[in-house]
Amino acid sequence: SDPRPLAELSREELEAFATEQRTAYDNLVAKGLKLDLTRGKPSADQLDLSDGLLHLPKSTTAPDGTDTRNYGGLAGGIEIREIYAELLGLSTDQLIAGGNSSLTMMRDTLMYLWLHGGVDSERPWNREETVKFVCPVPGYDRHFTLLEWFGIEMLPVPMNADGPDVEAVAALVKDDPAVKGMWLVPTYSNPTGDTTSQEIAERLTSMPTAAPDFKIFWDNAYALHHLTPAETKTADVVSLANAAGNPHRPLVFASTSKVTYAGAGVGFFGGSKENVAWWLDHLSSGAIGPDKVNHLRHAEFFGSAAGVREHMAKHRALLAPRFAAVEDALTDELGSLGVATWTKPAGGYFVSLDVLPGTASRVIELAKGAGVALTPAGSAFPGKVDPEDTNIRLAPSFPPLEQVSAAMEVVTACVKLAAAEKLLA
Ligand code: PMP
Repeated sequence: SDPRPLAELSREELEAFATEQRTAYDNLVAKGLKLDLTRGKPSADQLDLSDGLLHLPKSTTAPDGTDTRNYGGLAGGIEIREIYAELLGLSTDQLIAGGNSSLTMMRDTLMYLWLHGGVDSERPWNREETVKFVCPVPGYDRHFTLLEWFGIEMLPVPMNADGPDVEAVAALVKDDPAVKGMWLVPTYSNPTGDTTSQEIAERLTSMPTAAPDFKIFWDNAYALHHLTPAETKTADVVSLANAAGNPHRPLVFASTSKVTYAGAGVGFFGGSKENVAWWLDHLSSGAIGPDKVNHLRHAEFFGSAAGVREHMAKHRALLAPRFAAVEDALTDELGSLGVATWTKPAGGYFVSLDVLPGTASRVIELAKGAGVALTPAGSAFPGKVDPEDTNIRLAPSFPPLEQVSAAMEVVTACVKLAAAEKLLA
């Protein structure tokens, strides 16, 4: 069909294009597909990569003599902490290994801040009249849902290729002491795949904040999840914050959810030694010790930090073709039409697709009609409202490759049809 940008077509040409797209769409509907690009879950093949865990640990007695079957060891198994501290650029005493979910650790952290305040707080956050968080958008829906649950007000700022719009962040935090924190997925962010640069990380850790206890929730969920041979390094936020005189500002989170088993991995919390001691003190009111058997079997399975990197290369081999299928479909079908832009992530789990403003919900509705489930419109924004109705998060990790391609055929057809409808309206 005509490869010119749709905006250059005459009304007659556009009407012909719309008719063509309607027919193409109807043909896809007739196929009765049932496909899903909604959640960033690892595929079964990816989970298979970690089945070695099921035969570990070889002995439940850890190298340091700890009987991992018993209570105790609140900070987690030392062996897995050593491996992950190296990967995250922290010292072992700056990192705690916990249960299977880092998201739960984020919620616990907010709860501790809420009920008791942080190491540098004047009072618990629940005593403040309002608490606000800076939220780079588009972002991770569950971060926003969590803030909503606390009644924390969300202040969106744009997420750029090199990290959050730091001028916007600095302006929001400078004079308003109610702005207590911000989210950031520093490496291969959800959903844009952007990585925060060293320069932006420096600004974020050094910027003046009206709140003395301002926190960066540094959610490094995709630290090691490279899709290309260029293994992007995350800025060393804890050292930067320390050098800037704000040592307690970053709270670091990570997990093995998309490294080993999404439902049975290990979550991590890290930060200054004071933050770690603070965290353990609060944790001790509700825990005697984490699942150290799981910690030990993970440490044995990986062997070392290098072992984790080698393991991630196996994930890459399974994921990269799925991302290539998304990229190829978008380029082939939409590349010349001027109705969409999208990210080309070098890592992580998502592609962020921006369609013509005002058409994202229509695209998602059309896709549903053709049997393809997409993440609901607005999901990547606070309150689930995308003010431009433009953003769609694509998650190609879970379906088999041929299903990713089949789903993308539908997605691109729906983008074209919705664009034609919009331009004719
Ligand atoms: N943070 C981000 C940015 C994520 O995308 C995800 C999972 N989709 C999580 C956290 C959840 O991590 P966990 O499984 O460790 O709770």
